[in-house]
Amino acid sequence: MGRLLIIGAGGVGRVVVHKCAGLPDIFEQITLASRTLEKCEKIRDSVKRPIDVRRVDADQIEEVRALIEETGAELVVNVALPYQDLTIMEACLQAGVNYLDTANYESPDESHFEYSQQWAFHERFAERGITGLLGSGFDPGATNVFCAYAQKHYFDEIHSVDILDCNGGSHGHAFATNFNPEINIREITQEGKYWEDGQWKTIPAMSYMMSWDYPEIGPRDSYLLYHEELESLVKHLRGLRRIRFFMTFGQEYLTHLRVLGNVGMTSIEPIDYEGHPVIPLKFLKQLLPDPSSLAPTYSGKTNIGCLFDGIKDGQKRRIYIYNVCDHAACYREVGAQAVSYTTGVPAMIGAAMLMRGTWKGPGVFNMEQFDPDPFMDWLNQHGLPWTVKEL
Ligand code: NDP
Repeated sequence: MGRLLIIGAGGVGRVVVHKCAGLPDIFEQITLASRTLEKCEKIRDSVKRPIDVRRVDADQIEEVRALIEETGAELVVNVALPYQDLTIMEACLQAGVNYLDTANYESPDESHFEYSQQWAFHERFAERGITGLLGSGFDPGATNVFCAYAQKHYFDEIHSVDILDCNGGSHGHAFATNFNPEINIREITQEGKYWEDGQWKTIPAMSYMMSWDYPEIGPRDSYLLYHEELESLVKHLRGLRRIRFFMTFGQEYLTHLRVLGNVGMTSIEPIDYEGHPVIPLKFLKQLLPDPSSLAPTYSGKTNIGCLFDGIKDGQKRRIYIYNVCDHAACYREVGAQAVSYTTGVPAMIGAAMLMRGTWKGPGVFNMEQFDPDPFMDWLNQHGLPWTVKEL
């Protein structure tokens, strides 16, 4: 019996529910729980198959554990916010069920973007005989699997990886973020960081740009950012000398962000407003469009992939693996835009890998630690086909 508990009813949660509901043989019973019950009900009403909905505050370990026990869930898919990762992991541990998420733990008070606190669960998950799968979205997620696939099939040693993330879509707003604004703005306002010759190197935020010609989109300015998958990939790729992450931004977006930053609106330090503590970034989030509301009018495509340089049989080799996803096609299929879709589909696939036992092992794992082949097949079959190019 495949009993699944999904926590988080945002843009990504919607896609996970739709995709899992389409696989009744694997996910026989689905419960969607989130802080606001109405959001769960709205998603429930958009799915053809009956699913259960519940209210839960995932900051409370006890509440999550009780819900796992009540639903008999065998796996919890966490697509709430990164702030809830540790409480949900702890609840899974206590209840003895598998865990999956799409983003690493973040403390509400400080930006870290690192895995240490989640990796610290490894021994206890292993002793309990359960699996934690970290970062099963697109990036992290599919990009980690692309790396494992390149390592398995195309290289003896991968010397350099550039992860290239382009949203070539247009939503018609002057300024909006494609996923949770708080997490998104935290991520892109931190220092740029990459790994080279055995050490981490930092540069000021948005200070290094290159242009990359994204298939089906065209050339776009791409900025070096720190992104969490770099931390685990550095540990798991053979012969690696350099790994970087790039994301595209338009000038309009960057100008808005610079102005908001200059006036203090992207800060997570509370300020006093007429006797009330206010966190500027949380206030800004309230003003910005809900990312899922962008979906109905979003046009254009995303292209996310990895460019690899390395050696095979003594010869130099360059391989590019990528996926292209169309915003409007995602909306037609599940009522979501492509950023939610490209995250939600790999979350469903990761869940299927665990539920069927294709990926298993006691402990806490990143995506590249498992065999990439079945995951890559599922990407092709479930809406995120990929291309490999030898350059
Ligand atoms: P949204 O903000 O749209 O949705 C988050 C959901 O979590 C909301 O329904 C929210 O409820 C719920 N939630 C927040 N706090 C709690 C809580 N304490 N208890 C229960 N539910 C809670 O975010 P997205 O759907 O865009 O993103 C979901 C996750 O996916 C995030 O962690 C994000 O970082 C990650 N992501 C990963 C990507 C990848 O490629 N790996 C790419 C994009 C996103 P409410 O509405 O009531 O606040």
